[in-house]
This record gives sequence, C-alpha cells and structure tokens, in this order.
Amino acid sequence: MKSWAQVNIPSIDVGISVPQLHLTNSKTGKLQEVPNKSEYRMYVCGITPYDATHLGHAATYLTFDLINRYLIASGSKVHYVQNITDIDDPLLERAKLDGVDWVELAHSQIDLFTSDMVNLRVIPPEHYIGAVEAIPLIISAIKTLQDLGSIYPIDTDFYFSNSAESDFGGLSHLDRAEMEFIFSQRGGNPTLEGKRDSLDCLVWMSQREGEPGWTSSLGTGRPGWHIECTAIALEYLHPNSLDLELIDIQGGGSDLIFPHHEMCRSQAKILTGKELATNYVHAGMIGLDGEKMSKSKGNLVLVSELVRQGVDPMAIRFALISDHYRSDRMWGNELLRKATLSIERLRKALDGTSLAPTSELINEILAALADDLDTPRVISVLDLWVQRSFDGETGGDRSALELVLDALLGLKL
Ligand code: ZN
Repeated sequence: MKSWAQVNIPSIDVGISVPQLHLTNSKTGKLQEVPNKSEYRMYVCGITPYDATHLGHAATYLTFDLINRYLIASGSKVHYVQNITDIDDPLLERAKLDGVDWVELAHSQIDLFTSDMVNLRVIPPEHYIGAVEAIPLIISAIKTLQDLGSIYPIDTDFYFSNSAESDFGGLSHLDRAEMEFIFSQRGGNPTLEGKRDSLDCLVWMSQREGEPGWTSSLGTGRPGWHIECTAIALEYLHPNSLDLELIDIQGGGSDLIFPHHEMCRSQAKILTGKELATNYVHAGMIGLDGEKMSKSKGNLVLVSELVRQGVDPMAIRFALISDHYRSDRMWGNELLRKATLSIERLRKALDGTSLAPTSELINEILAALADDLDTPRVISVLDLWVQRSFDGETGGDRSALELVLDALLGLKL
C-alpha cells in the first residue's frame, strides 16, 4: 500500500554527539540499551481501519516516530515496516452494521489515518503493507507452519498450536487464567471445542457466508490477525541471518502485548527458531475524562477534527509527548491549552533578540531522549531555557536548536 507523504528531516550532523538510546523492554521490564548498529529493523503494528483513528493511535505512532528520528539522528538507517489490518472481523462487522462496503470503509479510515500522520509530521514507514495485499505471503507462512506440524484444523478453519513453543508467555508474563481472560476479550476463543490448547490462535478462517475469501490450498478463506504481522515482519524486514534476534524493535500499544505480540513472537520462533525482537516496546493508552477512548463510548478525540477547528498540529504533537510514552494518560482541553501556550512561548523565545545558551540544552534534550524517551524532561528543560531567554541571557544558536527540535522531536516551529 502507498505510504503517506515523506517528511523532510534535517541532518543534525553539527558536531553533536548522540548518546546511545535506551528503551524499556516489555519482555524483561528493564531499561535496555539499543545496541549500536548501522541498520535497524523496526516493525510497528498498524491500525485496523474500521473505526475512527483517534488521539490514542496518534500517540502510539508518535512514540515510534521519536525512536525512528533518534536512530536516524544517530547516523543509522532504520528499516521501518507498519501493517494495516485491512481484513478482520471488526472491519467486516462494522461495515455490515453501517451498511457500507468493507473495502470502502477501510480506505476511508486509512485516508483519515494517513492525513493525521502527515499533519503530525510522522515519518512514513519504508513499507506500509495491507493484510489483503500480503495474503500470498501469509498463506506461505501458514504452509510452513503446517509443514512443521504446528497447525491443525477445526472443521474448515486452521489453528496455530502454541504448545510447540516452550517459552510461550515469556513476553507478557501472565498466568494462564489471565491469558485466557484477555484472549477472550480481544478476539480469541479459548473455549472453542476441538482446540488442543485453549490459547491456540486462528491462522486461517474459511469463508463465511457474505464474507470475502481468498483461494488457497487451505481452502477459500482469510488469514487470522497474528500470523498477518508475523509474515509481513519476516518478509519485509529481511532479518539478518547473523543476528541473534530477527528484528530490533517490535512495537505497538500496550494492549497488543497479549495476545497479539505474544502470538507473533511464538509463531516467529517456530518459523525461524529465533526470538522475534531484541526490544519489545509498548506505548500507553490515551483516555478522556477517566475512560479509554472508543467509538462505542462516543468519546473519541480526532486529530483531523482538532486540525479542522484550527488547532496547530504542532501543539497536538507537543501535548501528546508532554507525558511519558509508557504511561496511560488522559487527554483534555487543559493539556492542549498548556501545549499551545508552550509552543507560543518557544516560538517567541526563538524569534527574540536574546537566546539563552543552547549547546548545553541540546545535550540535555539528547540525554533525556536517550533515557527511554523521557519527553517530560525534554519539555521541562525547554521551558527553563525559554524563561532564561526571556530573562535576557544570551549566547544561544537559534538554527542549531531549531534543527534539533525538528529532527528529533518533529517540531517544526
Ligand atoms: Zn501486529
């Protein structure tokens, strides 16, 4: 699928030393150094385009944009792949409910999402891959699992047997009861008759009446969600056979840790014998008025709607990075008001005649980002610098700071 418009990223090669990035790995729960490499492979799970993409989605993709920007600024190449789950139960159910064609619904939601990404200056992935266009390679991955004895039929559907993978659960660290409960909440069917293990997941679903299907040796049908990401990641990121893990970063919202990322990890392990990712990185959820945002609750805040109302996209970006990416947090007018004010003050300071020294500030920004993307600390040092500039301190370099704000934070002021 066509990715969104490229964002121009300035090079920050102005003699700045970029410290090594550290990120919290969900698998170990620990802060972990991202090893120094000339090329990185990052896979981030994309949207299921059935519902309005809201600020929660934007916050997740901003997190991985910050990682992407940081690694690029370190002088490395980042191979970044994102998928779109453009065929799945929620999409078909929504289309049926709204009486619209599922393909049209998906395309309209993808357009909305990509326009948000452009407005927020998120760097597009190198490969933006829809499940539908990836069906041949997903079938190929399922066939390999079949040859390895890791899938089995229930009626005309096929399931992945996770019991062949001894470390299943090693990412989420949940006990079986917790896994079964979450699995049932997030599209799984732990009590289905005929399953070898309650946590086995669907990899191929035979065509149901009124639903689309694709022909394969497994019968006419469509792929399950987890195998879609596993197959796309392995195909488009071309793992290096010398590396211990297949890719460097697998990412998404924290609601994907289980079952989605646990299942992908398990399937990749069976397919290749290797751990899927060196780092599993997850962004917190964004709520509104104490509740998770969802269309059913009617409390969605949309980037496109805010932009239509005249809100500066840079203020939205600033607001979304005001708190730490891993924390579950609330959106609100007060957060946006503060961010808008901070952006105005920052612009005023940059346009002013006295700029407080910037070299130490730039080092502080880099150090904070290297420390698990500590953006609240970045904002705090920027606020202090603004105040020092208003107080008349001099010696700063406007263009050097603008370059860093643009390249690393995506803030074009
Ligand atoms: Zn995924």
